[in-house]
Amino acid sequence: MSQPYDALILGGGAAGLMCAIEAGKRGRRVAVLEHAERLGKKILISGGGRCNFTNLHCRPENFISANPHFAKSALARYTPADFLALVEKYRIPYHEKTLGQLFCDHSARDILSMLEEECRLAGVSIFLQTDVRELTRTTEFIVRASNTEFRAPALVVATGGLSIAKIGATSFGYDLARQFRIKVQEPRPGLVPFVLAPEDRSHYCDLAGVSMEVVA
Ligand SMILES: Cc1cc2nc3c(=O)[nH]c(=O)nc-3n(C[C@H](O)[C@H](O)[C@H](O)COP(=O)(O)OP(=O)(O)OC[C@H]3O[C@@H](n4cnc5c(N)ncnc54)[C@H](O)[C@@H]3O)c2cc1C
Repeated sequence: MSQPYDALILGGGAAGLMCAIEAGKRGRRVAVLEHAERLGKKILISGGGRCNFTNLHCRPENFISANPHFAKSALARYTPADFLALVEKYRIPYHEKTLGQLFCDHSARDILSMLEEECRLAGVSIFLQTDVRELTRTTEFIVRASNTEFRAPALVVATGGLSIAKIGATSFGYDLARQFRIKVQEPRPGLVPFVLAPEDRSHYCDLAGVSMEVVA
């Protein structure tokens, strides 16, 4: 069975859901294809379960990227204040922890429920337990998933990075980039422990576990 859509979004994490909401609001027929049994699992573990959903002082220069202009254009079009307005519309209680970091008072589940409701209001179709296996492109994109085929002229790959495979992370996006000969920056872990050179290790390793405010 093949279903017609304007846009297919592969992956129902934070990026896929935001994209689906914005496209749906513009009147597009959108389908989100997610291989897990529920959406946004990584959102649920973010910020220690309370989701650090934005930072009041988030600016392009806070991002390390091979393409620094990307953060400029992205943040010019959707600001922390835009997301905060959405959180306030849903009356989700939150607090500023420190230095502009905003966390939910209760749970990251509040943020996920908000995104799910926004998808519903925007008329987005969600397909869970739909493992995307193959993608081809003719005059449009054809996605083969489990036992269904989806077609659309636009495709968004939002299958995430490699961290935490046990909650659904795959290398699918990178594999796809290779298939379509799209250049990929070598992926590196972003959230890592402090790494020291061997000669410094003997001096500083006893400090492991100590936390304090510093100027670096
Ligand atoms: C422990 C931890 C804490 C974090 N805390 C914060 C925080 O407080 N604040 C913050 O801003 N960021 C935080 N982050 C980072 C943030 O969670 C991620 O940047 C964000 O969730 C990435 O969203 P994404 O949509 O790009 O990818 P993901 O959330 O990884 O979504 C990708 C989706 O695609 C699905 N998928 C993968 N392969 C396929 C396939 N072949 N077919 C179908 N579906 C597929 C996956 O199941 C998944 O649902 C944290 C990350 C971690 C690991």
